[in-house]
Amino acid sequence: MFSSILVAGVSALALASSASAHLQIRSHFASFQPPNSLTPKTDKVERVRCSSNVSSEVYEAAESRFGYNRILIDTDNVAPRSANISVYFHVVSSDDSEENGNVSDDQISQQIDVLNEDYADSGLYFVLANTTRTVNEQWFSTAGPDTDEQTDMKNQLRQGDADALNVYTVGFESGSGTGLLGYSTFPSSFDDNPQDDGVVILFSSLPGGSTENFNLGKTLTHEAGHWVGLFHTFQNGCSEPGDNVDDTPAEAQPNSGCPTTVPDTCPDSEGSDPISNYMDYSYDACLTSFSTGQISRLQDQMATFRGINFSS
Ligand SMILES: [Zn+2]
Repeated sequence: MFSSILVAGVSALALASSASAHLQIRSHFASFQPPNSLTPKTDKVERVRCSSNVSSEVYEAAESRFGYNRILIDTDNVAPRSANISVYFHVVSSDDSEENGNVSDDQISQQIDVLNEDYADSGLYFVLANTTRTVNEQWFSTAGPDTDEQTDMKNQLRQGDADALNVYTVGFESGSGTGLLGYSTFPSSFDDNPQDDGVVILFSSLPGGSTENFNLGKTLTHEAGHWVGLFHTFQNGCSEPGDNVDDTPAEAQPNSGCPTTVPDTCPDSEGSDPISNYMDYSYDACLTSFSTGQISRLQDQMATFRGINFSS
């Protein structure tokens, strides 16, 4: 599996995209204690947007596959909203209450609206196709990267083909997913494991959720960014080819919070850190854009690996 992980915690600034960094995070977050279900559900844990476990080997293999098969889309001739993406929303909760994961239809509707606002220039239009609701304490608590619970969950719930976005909302309370905000598969991995394809996010990251600083719905925007084929803007740090997008400035590490002074962590490369890019780690309120190059890349990725037709 090749996925990207959103992590809750404070010291992930030192993250790199290596497997060893990933292991460090896991050990760090082993001490994270999710809020007790009886306490007020305002999640004030300081969170960092995401950590990638895309190793350089996996990155190179994926990019090689992409380069070999790439379908080039003429971005200038893509009409707005030319391709509909069906979204299957799978709500997994530990009981019937909203505070234990049973998010409302209204929140889901708002989340789809956020996606469509953020992807307004992408040629993609997200349409809610179906919502499923499952009470399963094990899945809610323990579904996370590479766990049996997430595999069971996806095997039972996933719908549609390569062009369908399956979103699972869970609690990330224990196991490998403890403290995560979300993780996603990438388009190039679909053929190898179709049933695994999709995005898993923290239920309280939806608009109006209880996760402070991460409750405007940008978690799904970010994870869907991986699902459409984008890497983090700090992929490969200051080294070429970075995230393989020409117009996203290189950055040495993820940013967090809402920096008032824009850092330039790769001074030898053009441009300051893209702190407002959806594929960085800033707070929800500070994530506002994809670059033109990212839009071009995601369209090629979607055409190449998910069979999306962009019409002019
Ligand atoms: Zn990510």
